[in-house]
Amino acid sequence: MPHVLVLNASYEPLGVVPLRRALVLVLENKAVSLEESGAFLHSATRVVAAPSVVRLKRFVRVPYRGPVPLTRKALFARDGGRCMYCGGVATSVDHVVPRSRGGQHAWDNVVAACRRCNHVKADRQLRELGWRLHQQPAPPSGLAWRIIGTGHRDPRWLPYLQPYGADAALARIDSGALSATPSTTPVSPHASTPVSP
Ligand SMILES: [Zn+2]
Repeated sequence: MPHVLVLNASYEPLGVVPLRRALVLVLENKAVSLEESGAFLHSATRVVAAPSVVRLKRFVRVPYRGPVPLTRKALFARDGGRCMYCGGVATSVDHVVPRSRGGQHAWDNVVAACRRCNHVKADRQLRELGWRLHQQPAPPSGLAWRIIGTGHRDPRWLPYLQPYGADAALARIDSGALSATPSTTPVSPHASTPVSP
């Protein structure tokens, strides 16, 4: 089932919902379609263009939402799909202070890591290995991260997410840095990007 980006009346990204839910918002006149996916949906009485981005007609006051949820996809996007220890292709999530030593599963204690570094590090602390992080891990900021963290994406969403911090993260994802299988040959970040027609 395709997913649809929902924007507040202020154009602020609110979340991602299944197409069916977005369609109900549009049919009930609670939202307008800003972008269409190109697909069409047939009901008993009418044909509706499937939306890809909808905007609520009335502004919704959003309560404080707390930190961006820590998901594997959001973490890999934050770290650019790279191992934070060696810069190789990340394939796993590593706890900087191991969980067995009281480390938390939190943004400031997790990094993307390659298989090798994760294996070598195991249950040890960085100082025991003499390793250093080039960058202290921190929670990502910006509303776009909530959308990115869902793992759903659509190129039509990009212009609506760019003002909210999506640019860098989505560029990394689209460059193929998040590929699940590590490459044995070094590839430049742009080499695997297909040329747009
Ligand atoms: Zn590594």
